[in-house]
Amino acid sequence: PSITRGVTVEIPKVSWEDIGGLKDLKKKLQQVVEWPIKHSAAFSRLGISPVRGVLLHGPPGCSKTTIAKAAAHAAQASFFSLSGAELYSMYVGEGEALLRNTFNRARLAAPSIIFFDEADVVAGKRGGSSSSNVSVGERLLSTLLTEMDGLEQAKGILVLAATNRPRAIDAALLRPGRFDLVLYVPPPDLEARYEILCVHTRKMKVGDDVDLWKIAEDTELFTGAELEGLCREAGIVALRENIAATLVCNRHFQTVKESLRPALTRGEID
Ligand code: ATP
Repeated sequence: PSITRGVTVEIPKVSWEDIGGLKDLKKKLQQVVEWPIKHSAAFSRLGISPVRGVLLHGPPGCSKTTIAKAAAHAAQASFFSLSGAELYSMYVGEGEALLRNTFNRARLAAPSIIFFDEADVVAGKRGGSSSSNVSVGERLLSTLLTEMDGLEQAKGILVLAATNRPRAIDAALLRPGRFDLVLYVPPPDLEARYEILCVHTRKMKVGDDVDLWKIAEDTELFTGAELEGLCREAGIVALRENIAATLVCNRHFQTVKESLRPALTRGEID
């Protein structure tokens, strides 16, 4: 049925070790996501109410989705994924129904994490224009607010939202009890780039002449997604050179790196 279109349910396999860099952010999320699920009795005993929503913001390709999945994996929580753009494009009423349906299913499957990608499309500031599309966004936003408020009675459900445009998020969503925590997911620094390269070459047969630290130094402004692409493409170049190749060597990485320009510019980094 169309009502469940676009919703996927799973406990993701990706873990914190699959994410390079972001040490503090991972630690913070472990507290916010895992503790209330694993130590819910302690939270009740002390009368602490867990965080209901976390807003992750930062440039594309820097692991917001992967972080949400790793958090669900660590907490062994069911993972529900929604896209703001997809909800927005649905027929009138269908997007709201899908939102409500997802929260209901998350309640039944608790502990659950609802990942809400491209949140700004639905949770954008209200009253910006008078076109009929605004009312679609407003209705979705008000449904989301109602559902977030309803989580107060529910146990073990956390909403992780992601956006590249945090300033576009409606202030109503940032009130206490909704998205209590706003975390910036930055593009990787040198050490993080090295760790990301390690993650994505872990299963590759890499030659002794490959110096991942040097590649990390030469890939300033590359996102995690671009570094992952670099590793994959280097493998393809090795195979293109010789289909019987047994190693991916430095020259293969260099060939790909020279053909790539990072999409990010310094000015875009928040
Ligand atoms: P978007 O805003 O475009 O949705 P995103 O921030 O959600 O992007 P992801 O989808 O999580 O980014 O990452 C894209 C790909 O890049 C993933 O396949 C992931 O493996 C890889 N990647 C990004 N950052 C990292 C990282 N820090 N460590 C390991 N892999 C990474």
